[in-house]
Amino acid sequence: MTKRTKAPDSVQTEILVQSRRRCCICYGLNRDETVKRGQIAHVDGDPSNNSLGNLVYLCFDHHDEFDSRTSQSKGLLKSEVLKYREELYYHFGNWAARIKRDELLNFLAFKYAHIESLTEAAIEAAGYATCFGKEHAFDVLITDEVDYCDGDLYMPHISTLDYYASWGFLSFSYEEREVEDDDLPRVFISVKRFPVCDKIAENILESCANDPEVHARLTHLADYRGWRGPKSTV
Ligand SMILES: [Zn+2]
Repeated sequence: MTKRTKAPDSVQTEILVQSRRRCCICYGLNRDETVKRGQIAHVDGDPSNNSLGNLVYLCFDHHDEFDSRTSQSKGLLKSEVLKYREELYYHFGNWAARIKRDELLNFLAFKYAHIESLTEAAIEAAGYATCFGKEHAFDVLITDEVDYCDGDLYMPHISTLDYYASWGFLSFSYEEREVEDDDLPRVFISVKRFPVCDKIAENILESCANDPEVHARLTHLADYRGWRGPKSTV
């Protein structure tokens, strides 16, 4: 009997990432590309063969079906599974390339965009949510993570993030969590800001250089959020 050896972590990671936790049989048969709970299976049935080419991520149902092949019924063939795995890897390999392409387009768009117009638009959109458009725009542009327990505060923040995300300035996610010792659920917002955010924020800061009061409020906000100005040039 062959000895089962655990595939090294690096190999398991490679399989999980390449498959994006999608089952290649679900994908091959039904074009089902949703994330599945599953396991890493050995295509040749040899549990000691942990080479990348012999491993495949399968959902629990398909793992069972693949392992319990019998000669009576036409079960899943190894060659068939390998083919589906190839299709799946191609599909998601392509996906990673698409993300890079989108980032590149974003970069090119902002490199040649008129930063003044973007700044004006950013302030105007923030002004829909609060009457302090400039400060609110600045705050949303420089903030990576924030949690609120007050709906009056997080709703404007999220509605402004919505605008900025739709313009490709950033992407964000948020979730409501119950917090111990607190009756109110808190809303946690996490933002992936592209360099254009820093660029616009810097522009807003410069634009109020001769209004010491507003300038002081913005620099205070920058300190509070831990913002140190543009990290890199766009
Ligand atoms: Zn499956």
